[in-house]
Amino acid sequence: MTSSNEVGMEALTEPYYAALRRGELVVQHCKACSRDIMYPRHLCPFCYGDDLSFVPASTRGVLHSFAVHRIGSPTGFENDLPYAVGVVKLADDVQFLARLWPDADGDWGGYACDAEVVFRAADAAEMQRRPVPWFGLPG
Ligand SMILES: [Zn+2]
Repeated sequence: MTSSNEVGMEALTEPYYAALRRGELVVQHCKACSRDIMYPRHLCPFCYGDDLSFVPASTRGVLHSFAVHRIGSPTGFENDLPYAVGVVKLADDVQFLARLWPDADGDWGGYACDAEVVFRAADAAEMQRRPVPWFGLPG
């Protein structure tokens, strides 16, 4: 006998990564209490409900914090240097670790904590290669 609680972590997160590979951002949603959940879980952390699905996420958020990596990247990210990562909080109270698009000048000088940011997926090849949320400054 199987239940949703016996689903492995890869199956649990697959809808999230599959959406990113399509250039879309989704979050898990609890039908019982109507709250959004990130990261994906087997049970709602608010009401312990198990009727969870994935829904389109808000594409506007606030940059909580960020860092620009210019040297010393983790293995596998050497060719991405320089790059920026940040914690983005969405309007529906979920947060992601995200890549940040450089400004028009190719750097990240226009970013600041609490800045408004918007989701803008990378091109299809990059989203297939590394399915992560990408956010940038509006406009
Ligand atoms: Zn719930």
